[in-house]
Order: sequence, then C-alpha cells, then structure tokens
Amino acid sequence: MMHVAVIGAGAAGCFCAAHLRRRMPDALIDVYEAGPKALAKVAVTGGGRCNLTNSFARVRSLSDVYPRGERLMKRVLKAFSPEDTWRWFEDEGVPLLLQEDQCVFPLSQDAMQIVHTLLHAMEGVNLHLNAKFIRLEEGFRLILKDGKQFSADRVVITTGGAPKGLPMLDGWDLEMVPPVPSLFTFTVRDSALRSLMGLVADASVSLAGTRFRASGPLLITDWGLSGPAILTLSSHAARYLAEVGYTARLSINWRNAPEDSVRKEIAAIAAANPRKFVASVHPDGMQSRLWEMLLNKAGFRREMRWGEMGNRGLNRLVSALTQDGYTLSGKFPFREEFVTCGGVSLTNINLSTLECKHYPGLYFAGEVLDVDAVTGGFNLQAAWSMGYVAAQSIAGS
Ligand SMILES: Cc1cc2nc3c(=O)[nH]c(=O)nc-3n(C[C@H](O)[C@H](O)[C@H](O)COP(=O)(O)OP(=O)(O)OC[C@H]3O[C@@H](n4cnc5c(N)ncnc54)[C@H](O)[C@@H]3O)c2cc1C
Repeated sequence: MMHVAVIGAGAAGCFCAAHLRRRMPDALIDVYEAGPKALAKVAVTGGGRCNLTNSFARVRSLSDVYPRGERLMKRVLKAFSPEDTWRWFEDEGVPLLLQEDQCVFPLSQDAMQIVHTLLHAMEGVNLHLNAKFIRLEEGFRLILKDGKQFSADRVVITTGGAPKGLPMLDGWDLEMVPPVPSLFTFTVRDSALRSLMGLVADASVSLAGTRFRASGPLLITDWGLSGPAILTLSSHAARYLAEVGYTARLSINWRNAPEDSVRKEIAAIAAANPRKFVASVHPDGMQSRLWEMLLNKAGFRREMRWGEMGNRGLNRLVSALTQDGYTLSGKFPFREEFVTCGGVSLTNINLSTLECKHYPGLYFAGEVLDVDAVTGGFNLQAAWSMGYVAAQSIAGS
C-alpha cells in the first residue's frame, strides 16, 4: 500500500489530501499539521469571508497577477482552472458568488464553510494536529518535534510561506529564494497627505528609477497609503523594496492618465474658466480636498484665477497632478492579507508535476514555493491548482 505524507494542513495540503483520497482510495494518507487546527489561515481569509478564487476575466497577462511563478501557474491552471474551482466547490454543496470586481466568495460569506467542506472531503485521511515536522531524512524518513518518526513513499511539502525559510530541509540539495514579505501598505510621513485620511482616488503609482507601477483605487490612511494600487505595487516590487530597506521615492499620478492628456484636460479647463478661481473648478471626479492640497503643493495662491495661470503655472499643476512625489519610510502590514514571496525555487521542480527534479517522490505545493499573487483570490487559486496537480502526479506515478 502506498503511503503519502502531506506536511502542512493549509489550503494546498488539504486540497491535495482530498484529491489523493478520491484518486487513491487504497493509499495510506497522513497529513501532519504543526498547529492545533487545520486550515487556520483559510478560516480568516478575505476578512472571514474567503475570497477563494477570481474569474480571471480582467487578467490580461498572468504576470500581472502572479509577479512570481507565472510559468508554473500557466501549467497548473491548465490542469485545474478557476472554473474547476468553481465547479468543485459547488459540487461539494457550496454555492458561490461572483462579485462585480471579479472576486469569488461563498454565497454564505463565511470562510468556515470552506474549511468544513475541505475537512469533509478529506474523510479517510489521517489528520495529525500539533504534529510539527522538523526534519526530513534519507529514505523519506520524517521526524516530528515530539520525537515520533515515520517513513513515507511520497512526501508533499505544503508548509506555506515561512519568513524563516525551511530549516527542516537543511542538507537537502534544494535551491532556495530568500523569503520576503509581499502585499503590504506604505508608511509615508507627510502631514498634508495624511490630512486627507480616508480619501480614495483612482490613481497610478510608480517607484522612481524602476519599472514598477500599478494602478487602481488608492486609499490615504493615517499612516500613509493603502488600497489595491499600493498592494499590487508592493507585490510586484516586493523583492526590490526589501533590498532598499523599504525606503524609496513614490510618484502618484492622481488622474491615472498620460501626462499629455492631463495637460490637455487642464488647458481646456483654463480656457473655459478664465475668470474663475482655480480652487473653485476642479477636474472631473477629483475631490475638492485633494484638489486644494495639490494646488497648495504647486504653490498657487487661493485667489489665483485660471486666466492668470500662464504656461509655467500649467506645467507646475500638471506635474503636481501626474508626478506627485513622496518618500516611503517603511512598510505596514496589510490587515487583511499577508503573503510571503520567495521559498523553494522553481528551478528545483518539474513545473508540470511539482515533483523535485533531484528527489523523485518529493513534491512541493502552495506558498512554500516561490510563487505568489496580488490580492483578489489569486493566492488561494494557486493553492488549489498546485494541491490538485501534486495529487494528480502522485496518483499517476
Ligand atoms: C489574513 C489573511 C487573509 C488572506 N486572504 C486571502 C483571500 O481572501 N484570498 C486569497 O486568495 N488569499 C488570501 N490569503 C493568502 C492565502 O491564505 C495563502 O496564500 C494560502 O493560505 C497559502 O496556502 P498554503 O497551503 O500554501 O499555506 P498555508 O495556508 O499557510 O498552510 C500551511 C500550513 O502548514 C503548516 N506548517 C508550517 N510549518 C509546518 C511544519 N514544520 N510542520 C507541520 N505543519 C507546518 C502551517 O501551520 C499551516 O497550517 C490571505 C492570507 C492571510 C494571512
């Protein structure tokens, strides 16, 4: 009888175990979980609602949503797609809801329904809680923290994103990518900006001297900047920002439009309103609090009229609107989601099977690999797809 050991009862490990159970009813399947509960993280995903996947309808390129691991994701999504995720959960009795922003949640809006469904699908799997795995020895001998030892024919490591790496695999010839945080918000010490706390604008943001940029809703907080535009930028620039110690110059384009079209827009407002105060006529959709802050930054007097602006004034205003610069002074954990980038390098594994090239029978799935996504259900979709592929490969091996 084949013995499969899955290390880590998170999203990837449990999904893998559930598929192993169904595909290999005669196999002995053990899941070892360090914590007192399985799927503890899934229980708190999406603010307790669990954003379990995304329709991918607005994804132009996989690299936009998977800054690391795009090639692997292309393969595993072919094997287990967002539609498969949708079908699987609905077949298990979980009606799903597609939001306007293309994020998918259980209709119940309750992450515990996802937890219970996965645990139910794992019936017949031996789940060992408080079973911390500390070493893997030759012959796939697993050593647990309490001294217990087991041997397995196949081992799937799904221990998630570990800030301290994988000491239990010390001595194994595996290339590792140093782990660093992804998906965080930015600390900006700027009193004028912070006075706009709570304001949301559709903007694009970029890091000076790099190609990292992102666009979407930008939220001003009491510590600096947050919102989808910042989280996406933090994900794409995660490694760069770690290298520079989370200090960098950030440029905000408050119109989320190219400079020449903003110039035309402002010139048209000036031509149509020569006698009006600049402060009293603002571009479409721009909140007056933000407009006033930008006029102040551009050095305009309160009583300045559009007709008095001149070319130099126009240049200053366009620059404040499209290249508003701030110094980042640190990162702030995003309260809803925290993901690690880095981990086991994809060079170690066969991207189609998730099996280790050097060690046949050893598999990796989930955030333990150097794969991670922006927010929106893409991280959990990665965990489902990889868990499925590892199970499929083992069942076919
Ligand atoms: C607060 C929060 C909210 C999130 N919300 C969303 C969301 O709505 N949508 C989305 O797509 N993504 C979300 N994410 C990200 C998503 O949860 C992760 O990407 C996903 O859980 C990764 O799955 P995984 O199985 O690889 O790792 P995990 O789910 O982290 O599971 C790893 C498991 O391995 C166990 N483990 C670790 N080391 C050992 C060891 N040595 N021995 C035994 N067991 C071990 C851990 O205890 C854990 O249970 C959120 C993350 C957080 C923190």
